[in-house]
Amino acid sequence: MPIEKTDKIWMDGELVAWDEARIHVLTHSLHYGSGVFEGIRAYATADGPAVFRLKDHIARLFDSAHLFLMDIPYSPEEIVEACKETVRVNGLDSCYVRPIAFLGYGEIGLNPLPCPVNVSIAVWPWGSYLGEESLNAGVRMMVSSWRRMDPNVNPVAAKGTGIYINSSLAKIEAIKSGYDEAILLNTQGFVSECTGENIFIVKNGVLITPNLASGALAGITRDSVMTIARDLGYEVREESLLRHDLYLADEAFLTGTAAELVPIRSVDDREIGPVGELTRKLQETYFAVVRGEVERYRDWLDYVG
Ligand code: PMP
Repeated sequence: MPIEKTDKIWMDGELVAWDEARIHVLTHSLHYGSGVFEGIRAYATADGPAVFRLKDHIARLFDSAHLFLMDIPYSPEEIVEACKETVRVNGLDSCYVRPIAFLGYGEIGLNPLPCPVNVSIAVWPWGSYLGEESLNAGVRMMVSSWRRMDPNVNPVAAKGTGIYINSSLAKIEAIKSGYDEAILLNTQGFVSECTGENIFIVKNGVLITPNLASGALAGITRDSVMTIARDLGYEVREESLLRHDLYLADEAFLTGTAAELVPIRSVDDREIGPVGELTRKLQETYFAVVRGEVERYRDWLDYVG
């Protein structure tokens, strides 16, 4: 998906022109995947653009850095403000927001501790990650032959850049096999998540998602959807799922900031059926919430001002 250029990128405290936002080829993170990042969305609301759950995303960014013993040379509050400033100066109503903290130029080798930490924030307009039509018609999924990494191989609670090679391998396999997206099982064989999304099923009116011990990322959309579903009066469970639970689901969908809430049409060619009633209701509510149309969840929105 080509990136749509905007005006300015925040780099280490300065707003620089998009084309000037460059780094050295010996940047540590380029060689060893030693960066941490976030994916956030700002939505157009009646009161102007607002970033959805910005403080939660930045808290997760700092948790990711903590897991890699990386000291981000800014406070979470400064990064929150910098994200809002970057959306504001680029004059966008709605956009994707990508902060990244990475080990920069100066040292090379596998001891990352002496490396400088650089931070940048880019924003650009980005439609639904799996395509606009995915929101309506749903996606075809396959269970990948690649396993989600064991938590003792990598800290899977981190959004670490190097960790995403696992997701990319599964994504390539899915695309080359003619599917839209992959589901990864963990090393014990339980369902974990997708390459950049969490997964939910509906069975007998109950919403079920793999627990975090499955190795799934603690998705902020996952948390939002569980909160919304409980508030709507549905039972929500976090538990171990086997691949046959996916095949036998009444409904299934995936959640993520980039993908948003996308129905799953089939898994490994087992049809799940037309988009289910609960999936549709949660999807509609989610979109109303991010657009600031539901009073109860207004404090999830950080208005850019
Ligand atoms: N799992 C993975 C592996 C991801 O990269 C993402 C996207 N950050 C998610 C799940 C969904 O997380 P969120 O809802 O916070 O975007």
